[in-house]
Amino acid sequence: MPEGDSVVRLAHRLRPVMQGKTLQHTDFRTSRLAALDLEDWLVDDIVTTGKYLSMHIQAPDPARLAHSNLVVLSHLGMDGSWQVDAHPSHQTRCIFTFDEHQVLGFSLATLEVIPPDIAQQRFDKLGPDILAPDWHDPVTAEGLRVRVLKNFRQTVDQPIATALLDQRLVAGIGNIYRCEVLLLARINPYRMLSELRDEQLTGLITLCHELMVLNIPPIADEQSRRCTVDLRPDPSAPFGIRIADATERARARADRRRRRGNTPAYWVYGRHRTGCLRCGHRIRTAAFGAEPLAERNVAWCPSCQRD
Ligand SMILES: [Zn+2]
Repeated sequence: MPEGDSVVRLAHRLRPVMQGKTLQHTDFRTSRLAALDLEDWLVDDIVTTGKYLSMHIQAPDPARLAHSNLVVLSHLGMDGSWQVDAHPSHQTRCIFTFDEHQVLGFSLATLEVIPPDIAQQRFDKLGPDILAPDWHDPVTAEGLRVRVLKNFRQTVDQPIATALLDQRLVAGIGNIYRCEVLLLARINPYRMLSELRDEQLTGLITLCHELMVLNIPPIADEQSRRCTVDLRPDPSAPFGIRIADATERARARADRRRRRGNTPAYWVYGRHRTGCLRCGHRIRTAAFGAEPLAERNVAWCPSCQRD
């Protein structure tokens, strides 16, 4: 299951290839869409909502069509992808041909072509988007935090590790950031929502947002791999840590490039063999709730995350 930042990066990659371009040919390889032909439709915009990718398309002659605007809505699911100029395979779900390039969707969990209002109905079921543009403004960001907190308080009591992945409460967080923010906040994944203070819950969401923003352009370069370790101690900040400033990050990234291959990118995620990056303790993992198989394993440090 992708993280929201992967979907935002994907939109960044697809925009130069698709946006403002006219479809020369479409080939949908799913039974429901097989008859659909979007030749001459124009790609208006590509936007993300949580883990959904929306390609907004416009009809060549709006007067002739009931829906002059449609959305190609997709969700990558466990291992879906959109690729430019790739070779088709049995996992190809659609091929969009433009003048200069082809864009192919593989193994997509969701692929629909629907009117914008129907797409909006899907989004209305999601919690606030952890990467929504509203986070850039302190007032609207505070509104988002309050809405997520309200969702946490109004839902059934459950372990925080389960709640962070429930897209109806907050949209866009995947397993990696869930593991990482719980380690950084020193919160045990089994702690119930009702046991956590409001400041802890909003602090987790803020930290998660800040770490994800670090990993999407223009702050991260398109090629750099995801990394959550660019932090500094700060006793006055929530959980005693702050995001490293631009100079500190540039230094850290240059250092990582020099030592390519051996530099840790995460605190606990994927560190079953090496141990917790903070204290070296052996990492534990456990499956949570009814999440899909690959999503279930939360990694945490029993030494850092006692509470
Ligand atoms: Zn530890």
